[in-house]
Amino acid sequence: MSIPFVYHPIYSVPFPAQHRFRMAKFRLLYEKLLQKNIIHKNNVLEPQPVAADIIEISHSKEYIDAFFNNKLDKTRAKKLGLPWSEQLAARTKYSIAGTLLTTELALQHGIACHLAGGTHHSHFDFGSGFCIFNDLTIAALTLVKKQLADVIFILDCDVHQGDGTATILQEYPNIFTCSIHCRNNFPLKKTESDLDIPLEKDIGDAEYLEALQLALHKMLEIEPDLVIYDAGVDVHVDDALGKLAMTSQGIAARDYLVMKTCHEHHIPVATVIGGGYHKDLDHLVERHCIVHEQAAKFA
Ligand SMILES: [Zn+2]
Repeated sequence: MSIPFVYHPIYSVPFPAQHRFRMAKFRLLYEKLLQKNIIHKNNVLEPQPVAADIIEISHSKEYIDAFFNNKLDKTRAKKLGLPWSEQLAARTKYSIAGTLLTTELALQHGIACHLAGGTHHSHFDFGSGFCIFNDLTIAALTLVKKQLADVIFILDCDVHQGDGTATILQEYPNIFTCSIHCRNNFPLKKTESDLDIPLEKDIGDAEYLEALQLALHKMLEIEPDLVIYDAGVDVHVDDALGKLAMTSQGIAARDYLVMKTCHEHHIPVATVIGGGYHKDLDHLVERHCIVHEQAAKFA
């Protein structure tokens, strides 16, 4: 196997068609990557669902039970912003497992890509902004616990700040959190990552890539055993919820630079797709293809 990709058909559960979170995008992304011949039957793996005790490594038991039993109070359900269903609950166990599997595969293969993941607004005892549980923190803490990695760098390039990731990991100095995001965007109340790089509205490719250099410089200083890279495409100029002005070429340059830097320094990198919001699913899916197309260059 060259570069492994991780996907499960359960990722796109039935969902209200007009919901801002485009649940169909995972299946469409998988189909598009098959069409592009980036994914084929020999380089894609399906995760098995995680057990609840894996989730407990970064969330309260009370919150985990409340979510899986559809017992979230109105305030927490509203903050999460996703309509609960049995299928959504089942999907959640697979998508967390998918990110964990991707990180383990990255350690073995150098690069591995998850066709989902990046739920960085999820906190210890509540979800937020379409993020139920925090796959990034669960994967990082599990790898450290299993002694598969000592130092991990989470590079969050979603346009929104990785607030949940930062708070869950604030007591773990060996897991470095870095968020490059738009200053004037959700979440209103930012938390403190180890390195935050807030960008002004409407910043385009050149300035963004300059900011990314700061993050990569820090990453090389830290010398992590693994990078978990959130390649959110809501930085795109046409994104419905982002407020930056990047082009698809700029996103490709960003993703390539991250993986090239890791590759040159022999740092394994696991990618997750992060956020992306657009009415036109074709456009959105094409943007989520970018990180996988760039990863395939390292096969
Ligand atoms: Zn986002």
